[in-house]
Amino acid sequence: MQYEVGDIVKLKKPHPCGSHEWEILRVGADFRLKCLGCGHQIMVARTLVEKNVRGLRRPGEGSGTGNGAADGESGKQKN
Ligand SMILES: [Zn+2]
Repeated sequence: MQYEVGDIVKLKKPHPCGSHEWEILRVGADFRLKCLGCGHQIMVARTLVEKNVRGLRRPGEGSGTGNGAADGESGKQKN
């Protein structure tokens, strides 16, 4: 799986603050993650993240793509 800065990952273990979700601030051999519940930042080895991740969502996606290709049936002319 491909992880990118800005993605939100959901981990198995909740942070003590109760949140399961972390924002990726940096990727590499280690990831820097920020808890979405309390803002706490941690460094975690990539392998650990991959082992514990339950889900991934990408807030930037889902809007702005696939817009405006909707004029298939414009004016067929009969002669
Ligand atoms: Zn937290």
